Amino acid sequence: MPANRRFRNVVRIGPVQVGTAYDGRGREKHTAVCTAPRCGFSNDFDTRAAAELAARTHRCRVR
Ligand SMILES: [Zn+2]
Repeated sequence: MPANRRFRNVVRIGPVQVGTAYDGRGREKHTAVCTAPRCGFSNDFDTRAAAELAARTHRCRVR
């Protein structure tokens, strides 16, 4: 997870972490980040549901 953002409600779904943080304008962003080395999957979403769905359906190519 990026160290410059404070995430809350962080959950782990498989290798993917989902967290909620405020962006620079005070809006909530929901980020899904894969923790597997060399995967590099990371996406921001407008809703928590979308972020968790992405985490659940993420197919890690690094096994
Ligand atoms: Zn992955």
